[in-house]
Amino acid sequence: MSAIKLAIVGMGKIARDQHLPSLAANSHYELVAVASPNHTLEGVPNYKDIETLLREQPDIEAVSICTPPQVRYDIARYALEQNRHVMLEKPPGATLNEVAALVDLAQHRKLALFATWHSREASAVEPAREWLATRKIRKVLVTWKEDVRVWHPGQEWIWRAGGLGVFDPGINALSIITRILPQPLVLKDAELSFPSNCETPIAAELTLQGPQGWTVRAEFDFRQTGPQSWDIDIETDDGRLLLSKGGAVMQVDGKPIVSAPDSEYANLYARFVPLMRQRRLDVDLAAFRLVADAFMCGRRVTVDAFIE
Ligand code: NAP
Repeated sequence: MSAIKLAIVGMGKIARDQHLPSLAANSHYELVAVASPNHTLEGVPNYKDIETLLREQPDIEAVSICTPPQVRYDIARYALEQNRHVMLEKPPGATLNEVAALVDLAQHRKLALFATWHSREASAVEPAREWLATRKIRKVLVTWKEDVRVWHPGQEWIWRAGGLGVFDPGINALSIITRILPQPLVLKDAELSFPSNCETPIAAELTLQGPQGWTVRAEFDFRQTGPQSWDIDIETDDGRLLLSKGGAVMQVDGKPIVSAPDSEYANLYARFVPLMRQRRLDVDLAAFRLVADAFMCGRRVTVDAFIE
């Protein structure tokens, strides 16, 4: 079978750090073009926007959208209307209704639509899910604390409405727990801390309730300096599971069980191939819904202005 002709839309940090190497290593794909307002990629034709991209290169079969979430919907909608398969970076949109509209359109046109959750592809996530399946959860603590100045330098969009603020990394943790824990998880309480000069929160504390009444406490903070934490600590009736390093490492009662090199984006691109061949959707909004609920029901407190 010939390689799928794919274009990247949005040539920013994640496109360079992860999408380009994963595509280069996967013979199912040929990266044939890029659309991005300012940045370009050597070796392929570059366009400023999706409209010019698809007009100039009608043989493009799929687009991978790596823009900030605020512009994702219009781009994805246009690509589907032009009969292209679509892969979405997380979060899959700025609102739930945007994603619902994309789902309808992709189904109607019989195109692949893949709302990716890269953290779900971390090495220890599936082993953790299997280990938990036969045990009773007692309580869960999620600690997702990172230094925004290190991980999102100059990313002004993250502080603008729709950019999610600390939920940009926090939704990664939620994408993992909504995969490995019994469902449904419902929001019981949330406090969101907004810097006085920003439209999105710099920190958030959530309490979620699971189906048997146990709780998940989630602490997200962008103000972390020193050691960074991307940990999920789960107490069960038969031991304590710790997922650390964003889901790459799993320990049970302090004993290492899984630790494997990163293959998150390689896995995402591998998954997209059969979705396109079979013209199917993979859109799970459990994590995105929890974030929407936190914005809808969370208490808001104002904290010090954020100056990068
Ligand atoms: P970024 O570095 O700011 O890059 C976003 C890029 O999108 C910019 O380079 C910009 O292109 C482009 N863009 C903006 N509007 C566009 C439009 N209308 N059409 C085409 N391109 C447009 O942000 P990022 O860190 O890569 O994050 C992008 C997405 O990936 C976010 O949703 C984020 O949550 C997700 N993500 C990021 C990371 C990470 O570690 N950074 C990890 C996982 C997922 P120009 O520069 O050319 O103007």
